Amino acid sequence: MKYVFVTGGVISSLGKGLTAASLGTLLENRGLKVTLAKFDPYLNVDPGTMSPFQHGEVYVTDDGAETDLDLGHYERFTHATLSRLNNLTSGRVYANIIEKERRGDYLGKTVQVIPHVINEIIERIKLIGEKSDADVLIMEIGGTTGDIEGLPFLEAIRQFAIEVGPKNVLFIHVTLVPYIRVAGEIKTKPTQQSVAKLREIGIQPQILICRSEKPLSPEVRQKISMFCNVPAECVIEELDVANSIYEVPMALRQENVDELVCRYLGLLAFAKPMTEWEKMLKRLIQPKYKTQIAVVGKYIGLQDAYKSLYEAIKHAGAANDSAVEIVRVDAEDIERDGAAKHLRKMDGILVPGGFGNRGIEGKIMAARYAREKKVPYFGICLGMQIAVIEFARNVCKLKGANSTEFEAKTPHPVICLLEEQRTITDKGGTMRLGAMPCKLAAGTHARRLYNAALISERHRHRYEFNNTYREQLTKAGLVIAGHYTEKDLVEVIELPAHPHFVACQFHPEFKSKPYDAHPLFRGFIEAALKKAKSTT
Ligand code: GLN
Repeated sequence: MKYVFVTGGVISSLGKGLTAASLGTLLENRGLKVTLAKFDPYLNVDPGTMSPFQHGEVYVTDDGAETDLDLGHYERFTHATLSRLNNLTSGRVYANIIEKERRGDYLGKTVQVIPHVINEIIERIKLIGEKSDADVLIMEIGGTTGDIEGLPFLEAIRQFAIEVGPKNVLFIHVTLVPYIRVAGEIKTKPTQQSVAKLREIGIQPQILICRSEKPLSPEVRQKISMFCNVPAECVIEELDVANSIYEVPMALRQENVDELVCRYLGLLAFAKPMTEWEKMLKRLIQPKYKTQIAVVGKYIGLQDAYKSLYEAIKHAGAANDSAVEIVRVDAEDIERDGAAKHLRKMDGILVPGGFGNRGIEGKIMAARYAREKKVPYFGICLGMQIAVIEFARNVCKLKGANSTEFEAKTPHPVICLLEEQRTITDKGGTMRLGAMPCKLAAGTHARRLYNAALISERHRHRYEFNNTYREQLTKAGLVIAGHYTEKDLVEVIELPAHPHFVACQFHPEFKSKPYDAHPLFRGFIEAALKKAKSTT
């Protein structure tokens, strides 16, 4: 296996994850099998316990790991299927080490950053290699070069590189080349200093990917080359993309990055035209139609909080040749102003996942509005629970129906905890997590959209549809379209008398791809578009 390590310099939020993912796309286009991983220097064992305001979305893999959102980019940009091995935090490293220490595995030795922490990190890199049949592992190191907490990871990749030899490892440094407007100049000094910092640690990057808002002139490239010790052709320009993140692979390809990577690593792999990717981009960027949907949530102010969701909506838009304007509606605004004020103009209403009490009644009002006004509705996880509560309250007249998450003593707990969840007090990694099978009932929207009877989708929640109310709700018209038979859990609900009212307990957004939109998102946007066309 060959290893590409991607580090970041100068500032965070440079899009290292997207750059790593895009390199994955380009290497796959050369017929190589890739896998990707991210190492994060923070001390949480995983991001699962962090608020979306802290760290954006928590991305869930098939095997139920709660991971950094960059793993979402990796899976969307490539065909790799990632697992809990592919995301490592300092917290996890230390947790493992302390567990070993308590067991007495270190046989009386002093446990130290060097060698024990470093070795733990190196072991993980090797393990990813052993468990994968990929040709190339692209590994991103979170944080910014120079951060104290990132040092062990950099030391680990330095040592690892010595161990596996120069032909097998490549260091790519993603850095900022700022444009100073008042001076009208592009500045290379931050990049020089960031590379100097890396060299101090013992790492000489072979390729520099320079994030910039202005093109790099040959002189600027020459200067960076000279003072950062890399050939001029390895100074890569990565401008802000105009329309879509899926343009990044094309931009990097223009700069020959994949060619350089293959040359450095001695990989004989040849590029093919990227016709399919280009077609997909065209549908994304120049769609024929337009539709407007509301996402009614709690973390709507933060772009990263529903990362995969927004991406899945874009994929579904492209699949329907439609631009999708996403209107972010704060559920608390609906509580204050009523649903009509915010939702009247919408072609579709989506209630995504979420936790905690805030805004719940506003979401219930949104689901009611969608049901009564026949606006296409798509509920995901909490969005399904909300729809069930609304249906119980307003159609079945179960007064005060609720989820026990929001009201422990509700007279009608239509959503509640399973027995196995009731005794759990730890918050980290204890939800129903990861991929589980689901059977789709014949004749339902879901079955038609998936065009399959058995599907597998990823979960991240504690509460479930309460089967005690199943008969009462289905008699009143709610259809159980998806079912996890083995555990007797409701996974998809629908309202057949409605143009499109579909909600699922799992998180389909984690499995949508730009070139293969998720069926439930595709169906929802299709319904929204139909409504948009009928009203114009
Ligand atoms: N809070 C709900 C639960 O834990 C929904 C979770 C979610 O939407 N991811 O079941």
